[in-house]
Amino acid sequence: MTLGNDWFTEIHADAGSAFSLKLTKKLHEEQSAFQRIEVFATEDYGNLMTIDGLYMVSGRDNFLYHEMMTHPVLFTHPAPKKVVIIGGGDCGTLREVLKHPGVEAAWQVEIDERVTRVSEQFFPELCERNNDPRAHLLFDDGIKFMKDAAPGSIDVVIVDSTDPVGPAEGLFTEAFFRACFRALGDKGVIVQQSESPLYHGKILKALHAAMRAAGFGQTQTLFFPQPVYPSGWWSCTMAGKNLDLKTFRETDARNKAFETVYYNADIHRAAWAMPEFFKRLLEG
Ligand code: SAM
Repeated sequence: MTLGNDWFTEIHADAGSAFSLKLTKKLHEEQSAFQRIEVFATEDYGNLMTIDGLYMVSGRDNFLYHEMMTHPVLFTHPAPKKVVIIGGGDCGTLREVLKHPGVEAAWQVEIDERVTRVSEQFFPELCERNNDPRAHLLFDDGIKFMKDAAPGSIDVVIVDSTDPVGPAEGLFTEAFFRACFRALGDKGVIVQQSESPLYHGKILKALHAAMRAAGFGQTQTLFFPQPVYPSGWWSCTMAGKNLDLKTFRETDARNKAFETVYYNADIHRAAWAMPEFFKRLLEG
């Protein structure tokens, strides 16, 4: 939703809040088979992509989200080789996954090819590893892909989807997590973008319950800032088959051979720290 022609404003109606960015130019708009995709140039946040009128990715702050959706889960798995990204059409998550030299193959299963093509044009920095021989860009429904995946064939699943509405709704269900559980190997782990801890407690509580009902022994939410998303405080939630999610390859993380802007081993550890209200929410 936009208010005034030089600002883009997303109103969070249920929370009585909104977030605006000063625009300098509209760069693109189209109605794909799935959603409305728009791209703007902003005064201080680089390029901005929105989907169906909601903030999706900005040049300035996407590093927070893409790094926290990838490095904690990859350093939690003992030896991640085969990674599947559901959604992630802007390719920022794929870029971070492929920084891990041990990863042998990464499949990005994005339902809407237009998101990737628009990202290639307006966010080339997010797409810089799309031609890595380990990258496989598929344009399909992640729910179907997971249903068809061979049992035990995947080490890490990253669900980088839109909010739990429309095509993404099914990605937050027990049925989907059962399919992930079956497709993951013995030490398999999944991480899912899990909305705002401040605004979306109900979604988070239901997500933990659905993951556990699907058979995952442990679930763990990580917290991090994300200015363009509702409340500016975001989360991702991991679920492990036979893994203690509170341990990770800390030495590897401390000695990582690639650069990040936000993630490091201390941030990883701090992101587990559970706020008191959140403990009560999950126990309640
Ligand atoms: N960081 C964003 C967020 O937290 O809202 C998500 C970014 S990414 C652009 C979200 C992608 O999920 C969209 O491109 C959308 O097309 C894709 N998506 C939604 N449902 C999907 C499904 N069932 N299978 C595959 N991709 C899906």
